[in-house]
Amino acid sequence: MEQATGRSVFVTGGNRGIGLATARRFAAAGDRVTVTYRGEEPPPASASASAELLAVRCDVTDSQQVDLAFKVAEAAHGPVTVLVANAGTTQDRLLVRMTEEDFTSVVDTNLTGAFRVVRRAVRGMLGAGHGRIVLISSTAALHGAAGQTNYAASKAGLVGFARSLTHELGPRDITCNVVAPGLTETDMSRALTEEQRANLLRQTPAGRLARPEEVADAVAFLVGAGYVRGAVIPVDGGAGLGH
Ligand code: NDP
Repeated sequence: MEQATGRSVFVTGGNRGIGLATARRFAAAGDRVTVTYRGEEPPPASASASAELLAVRCDVTDSQQVDLAFKVAEAAHGPVTVLVANAGTTQDRLLVRMTEEDFTSVVDTNLTGAFRVVRRAVRGMLGAGHGRIVLISSTAALHGAAGQTNYAASKAGLVGFARSLTHELGPRDITCNVVAPGLTETDMSRALTEEQRANLLRQTPAGRLARPEEVADAVAFLVGAGYVRGAVIPVDGGAGLGH
């Protein structure tokens, strides 16, 4: 078990999948963790994840809901000094069939949503004099994927966003890094067909999907590594061999 650190941590989309695994990891280390959810609340703490998470309803496409969620987190835990912008969605279609709404709605959640939460979090981080931000992108940002022009563009946008923020906020001890998971065992990947899954696994030296906890490992590393900035860490079982 890591040493308790007692930081105020905020994870968007922390009710399931990668967000929940990440939130539980910080909570197990003694941090005070707020998770946001849109639909269902996170499951109650189990014996293996004994620390409670503070759950707040928040749709990241709505700035007012983002502001309110931060107010709740700050009132309970103090200024947020660790932010994991994880909430994300897909709307896969080949470009010829993709509507403008398919494109803009995915960008609004994945990219503009991250902008909304980061902008709100940075206020408190500037006051606190430090901050750690991790954005959850995807290997689709690095390699592209047929049917995912909207998703890949939104996730690639996070890289430029993180690197620009690194220039803006570096001297204030606020870091911003990106984790780019490959296919991970969550509800999102369960939507793939067997054929899509088999194709992806053929290109993955690990020969299996990532577990959400393995993505959380990379997030925790980046939060602890104050001199790593503007980095993109693939967690893809070797599929991109580091890229
Ligand atoms: P899930 O589908 O299991 O979870 C998605 C999470 O995002 C849920 O908590 C969901 O909330 C939340 N969310 C979606 N839209 C919004 C919104 N508008 N406002 C607030 N919350 C929202 O996916 P994963 O855990 O797999 O995905 C987590 C992140 O990892 C995403 O950014 C995804 O793109 C990325 N990723 C996932 C990969 C995979 O293979 N699973 C691979 C690469 C990247 P709710 O439950 O309330 O709807």
